[in-house]
Amino acid sequence: MKLNIILTTDAEGPGRRLAIWTAGCKIRCPGCCNPEMFNPKGQLPDMTSAELAEKILSTPGIEGVSFLGGEPTEWAEELCEVVSLVRERSGLTFMLYTGHYLPELSGKALELAMACDVVVEGRYDKSKPESERPRPRRWIGSWNQNLIFNTNRYSEIDFSGSNTVELRIENGKVTLSGWPGAISFYRKARASDDHTSR
Ligand code: SF4
Repeated sequence: MKLNIILTTDAEGPGRRLAIWTAGCKIRCPGCCNPEMFNPKGQLPDMTSAELAEKILSTPGIEGVSFLGGEPTEWAEELCEVVSLVRERSGLTFMLYTGHYLPELSGKALELAMACDVVVEGRYDKSKPESERPRPRRWIGSWNQNLIFNTNRYSEIDFSGSNTVELRIENGKVTLSGWPGAISFYRKARASDDHTSR
């Protein structure tokens, strides 16, 4: 499967996590902050489920894994295998972001969602920013999206508090991860800069 990985982040769910962005998303929410992940065959690292599970298990200091996208359910079979392999040898937690609502899922996609400790479900809707909610939740893009807790490893309280954004500079490339509102703001600012400098 084609993917991007950040080995340790504090900005993609509760605690310190390994974050995986899988390539490919057919949903195409207007205003999506990850359009570069739409292409399932993009120029990204390619890993098997076994390789990804080993990478997760060999990463120290994490309490869990977050699957983001793209749309991770488009790789449901592979990710179910990853969850199973990792759970055989660790107590790491799993968090899934999906643009689908759970009743829309079936087969392996639903199996993946139910195998994760916590799921953020639903389309990103830029007209409903999470910041407009009376008590905004951390790491959530828009207030129509739901949090589903499949186990008792996490609860609403883990999603309260201030949002986090991480900025990385690697090989001269700047990337932002975390709070979708800040990422959208950064992208607009960069697009405007690019336009001005032409
Ligand atoms: S489901 Fe996620 S990745 Fe896909 S378009 Fe919507 S916000 Fe973007």
